[in-house]
Order: sequence, then C-alpha cells, then structure tokens
Amino acid sequence: MGKNNDFVKQITKKSEDFSKWYIDVIKRAKLADYSPMKGMMVIRPYGYEIWELIKENLDRMLKETGHRNAYFPLLIPESFLKKEAEHVKGFAPEVAWVTIGGNEVLEERLAIRPTSEAIICSMYSKWIKSWRDLPLLINQWANIVRWEKVTRPFLRTTEFLWQEGHTVHSSYEEAEEETLKILDIYKTLAEKYLAIPVIPGLKSENEKFAGALRTYCIEALMPDGKALQMGTSHNLAQNFSKAFNIKFENKKQEIEFAWQTSWGVTTRLIGALIMTHGDDSGLILPPEISPFQAVIIPIAKGNYTKSILSEAKKIHNKLKEKGIRSCLDDRDSYTPGWKFSEWELKGVPVRIEIGPKDLEKGQVVLVNRIDRNKIFVKQENLLSTLKELLNEIQIKLFNRAKDFRENNTNNVERFSELKEIIETKKGFIKTGWCGSNKCEKEVKEKTSATIRAIINEKNSNFKKCAICGKKAKHTVLFAKSY
Ligand SMILES: [Zn+2]
Repeated sequence: MGKNNDFVKQITKKSEDFSKWYIDVIKRAKLADYSPMKGMMVIRPYGYEIWELIKENLDRMLKETGHRNAYFPLLIPESFLKKEAEHVKGFAPEVAWVTIGGNEVLEERLAIRPTSEAIICSMYSKWIKSWRDLPLLINQWANIVRWEKVTRPFLRTTEFLWQEGHTVHSSYEEAEEETLKILDIYKTLAEKYLAIPVIPGLKSENEKFAGALRTYCIEALMPDGKALQMGTSHNLAQNFSKAFNIKFENKKQEIEFAWQTSWGVTTRLIGALIMTHGDDSGLILPPEISPFQAVIIPIAKGNYTKSILSEAKKIHNKLKEKGIRSCLDDRDSYTPGWKFSEWELKGVPVRIEIGPKDLEKGQVVLVNRIDRNKIFVKQENLLSTLKELLNEIQIKLFNRAKDFRENNTNNVERFSELKEIIETKKGFIKTGWCGSNKCEKEVKEKTSATIRAIINEKNSNFKKCAICGKKAKHTVLFAKSY
C-alpha cells in the first residue's frame, strides 16, 4: 500500500492548486515535458497518441466535406507578411525571424510562420483564374511558431501543432457557409470526441482574427472558471484576395476578387481535455480519443500465474480483434496495486482485472475510471458489457462537464453584478451589450474579463447593455480566459 500512496502523493490535489495539478498530471502521466528552449515543450508518445486520435477524427470529417491536405513552406518572406495591413499588425509582436542562412545574411528576412495565410494566398493567386477553379478547399497539418511571453504546456507554447484550413469561394455567401460548416465540425469534434461542451459564437471586432471580416469560435468553460477558446473559423471576405491579387472570372465573365476563409484547432485541445475531465488521481480520457480504451491487469498468483497470464492474453487479442484499443500490462516488476494507480493517472477509462477467483468463475472485473465502480462480468459477455461501459463513460464525462458549465453560467443585468461574479466565482457571464468598443474596453480594464463570444448577434434577450444601460444589441458571454 505504501507504494501506491507514494504514487498518488506526487500529484497535487486538483481542488487545492489547479495550476500545479495541471502541470503535475502532464509530467507524471508523461504527456509532455519542458524542453531546453523556453516555452517549447516536447510532446511525449502518450500525449502524441492523443493528438493522433484527435487528428484522425478531424481529418476524416474534413475529407468527408471535400477538403484535401497539402503542405506549404515553413518560412514566409517579410514582404508577403506585410501585404495585408491588419494581418501584419496583429502578428508582428510574436513573429520569430530567420535573418541568416548558412553564413550569409539574407537580403530579406524570413518569418517562421505564425499562420500561413500569406504564403498560401501567394500561391492561390497563381492557381485561381476562373469560377471553374472554385471552390478550392485545402487543409494543412503543420507546426506554428509564435513568440509568446508567458507559456503553459499545451495551452500556450511558442511552437505548437495545428491544422489550418484555407479555402477560396466565388461568393461571400459561400464563404460564410463554409466558415459556419467548419465551426460545426469543430463543435462535433469537441463534444462527440473530446466530451467537452462548447458554445459557438462570433468574436467582437477587438477579439477577431487579424485580417478577418468575421471570426467565429467555440468556447468552453474550464473547472477553474476560466474560458478556453477551442477553435476559430474566419470569414476573410476579400481582405486577403485584394492584398494578394487572387482574382477569378465569374460566370458573367467579369473579373472579381475571390472570397476566402481560414480556420484552425491546435494541440491546445489536449490542455482542455486534461483540465475538463481529470481528478485528484490524474487524467480521465474520453474513450473516443483515449490511446488505450481498456487496460488488462492480470493478478498473477502462485500456481495460477501461467493460466491467468494466458487468459489475459486471450482477452487482449480478442479486444484488439474487435477494434478496441486494449493494453495488456503483464510487467512482473510491478505489483497490481502500483499498476492500478499508474493507469488511473494515465486516465484509461476502463481497467480489466483477472485473478485466480475470476478465472475459476469464468469472469473478469471491469473498473470504471470515473468512480471506480466494479462490474463482475462473465467472459462471454465481456465485449458487449465493455462497449456499453465505454459508451456510458463517454456520455457521463460530457454530461458532467455540461452540468458544471450550466451551474457556472450567470445571467447578469448590471455591471456591479458582473464585476462581483468575475472577482469571486468567475464562470461565464451572459449579458446584454450595446455593441460599443467603449463598454467592451471598460469591462476589460476593470475586471480583465473579455467578450468570449457574441451568442446572439441579431438581437438580445436582455433589454439593456449591462455596462452603459443603453439598448442591448447583442447577447454576449463575458469571462476571464486562458
Ligand atoms: Zn454599452
């Protein structure tokens, strides 16, 4: 027992110090580690396997909707980055530059991509001539560098992994439709696969992507009451096509600038997963994106060692055959108790135990990671019971997170109330907003909360703007954020 306790003791309690708990889980579960370069992390195999599963599911949904993957260069000439004025203004403070190649000082310095609109648009201007070339639906899986001052593993790192979609269309309406279609795919990814409920909405002018006409987002509420932006989808309208000269001949044989979108999600999603579902014992992974959905732990004892191990292997092979990501922990250098703690830390949704008594009775024990509830199940029913249990865990994690969000969303009508909630319990604040920059700025200055999303753009369910008292134009969500 002593050993097990030591194992768990190495993680700070989630309720005691959330930030420290977060880092402890990442390090102890071997998801990632700090690298010699400040702000750059190493994603270890277990963390990378989660990313691969996220990627696999999103990639499939993108391909099903007609998108194709391509790859563009890492470096962008400075003159390209400067073409769209708002874009360069937004990204300049965090760009890393290459100024020397080999021994030669470069004539023009090269940006390490902070996002790829500039390089991709320069190619699109060569490829697109006619309405027949449209729509062009391209996605890229890549790494990005943004020179961040304050970093935290997965949530904000100088280098991170993402996908960035860049599409071109023949009308504003079609670009808007694409922007919203992607937002919906992101919502499905978050809710169905990551089991994280999200609120879709529109960013305010201050919070939108540098160079976009409209930025849509999905926002989630983390257990510490702060909001996390989980993905963004931008309608770029003609801002970039005008800067990069992307023109096409429309059906009326007129030359017009093309309509564009761009959109992305990053490795930040893994940070959201850790925070949303984990507990004092470590990670809890939703079965859909867990590298291992079940871990089999043979309780090998005395005369039974051989027979138990061979039974465990049989179960492992059967599960693999049926498409369940299973792991057999047959290491004899660790006690079963130690293994229980380690796999709980790693968040595997179901543990399958098999010991001498179980072997005699022709059963195994299934243990649910969420509440450690045990189910004794006959061998012949294992597959169906396990599938049901995995499904149940996936739904329970989502519902638990949704309940938390509902319980921490407050409707507010006055600024004093907004301020008090932000200072005490945080969470989402739903309120009316007149749409003025001044009111938005005032909230930010006095509480550090920002508009996370405009959730009702056309009208408001609130009569008045909580800040100035004038007529409310929109319903918005305010929160402190990551
Ligand atoms: Zn106002």
